[in-house]
Amino acid sequence: MLMRGIGFDSSAKVAFQSHAHTDHFVSGEVIYSTKATKFLSHLRKEGFYREIDFRKTFYIGDYKAKLYPAGHMLGSAGIKLWLDTGTIFYTGDTKWFKLRTAEKSCFPRADILIIEATFGVPSFTFPSPKEAEKKLIAFIEDILERGRKPVLYVNQMGKAQEVMKILDLHGYTVKASRDMIKVAKIYEKFGIKFHNISKDGDVVLRAHRPPRVGNAFSPWELTVSGFGQLKLSNHADFWELMRIIEKVKPERIFTVYGYSREFARILEGIGYIADSIAPDSYLTPYC
Ligand SMILES: [Zn+2]
Repeated sequence: MLMRGIGFDSSAKVAFQSHAHTDHFVSGEVIYSTKATKFLSHLRKEGFYREIDFRKTFYIGDYKAKLYPAGHMLGSAGIKLWLDTGTIFYTGDTKWFKLRTAEKSCFPRADILIIEATFGVPSFTFPSPKEAEKKLIAFIEDILERGRKPVLYVNQMGKAQEVMKILDLHGYTVKASRDMIKVAKIYEKFGIKFHNISKDGDVVLRAHRPPRVGNAFSPWELTVSGFGQLKLSNHADFWELMRIIEKVKPERIFTVYGYSREFARILEGIGYIADSIAPDSYLTPYC
């Protein structure tokens, strides 16, 4: 969205890019992001990036700002701005619980909160990352015991590296795609090491699940996603979103992405002033 001429995960002359997933890519004359987001984005696109460290004061347009870790993937950030009318915090894609390959998230106090709502309804209740990890390892052990090779379907940027790291820590090698390995090499530049990449891994990681006829999924295949079978998600579920709101203590909330309308309605029902906005919307000037 745009606010006072600044793009938040939207293209504008001056823009902030919260993380390196393609649906958040922006173009602009100056793009502010973390160093990791810049490196990861360069896999696919050149841009005029300004690297900003977490919690360091900088100016975006005319406004004082700081980035805070969003916990969604390596380098993902939320941004707080100090406006003449108060403070505003935009989460980008975010996660309350710590993942193994993302920085621990942090949510500052702000008067206005713009929060993602990818999973903004209570039916999206995920196990904690630790519980999801246990389920993943139990699945792998079971399939290997049955003499098959487990195949995991994962987003190749962020989720693939999280799963690779989990498998590394549990002693399993992985056969990953070239793109997943490319991204993993960038993670390594930022201190997240992988010792288990192998041409003939114990576990196969694939980016796309091929279409099947009916429900004929193989028992050795598993989709790892908030929308999939194993809900190891790098997004906040509904309850994590509520924790974030309680931490930020906003006077006013805007919800964006996914179940933004439903989430805003739920928030209104419990006493918050909340509205949903489209990702390409202009926020009103009083913000
Ligand atoms: Zn994302």
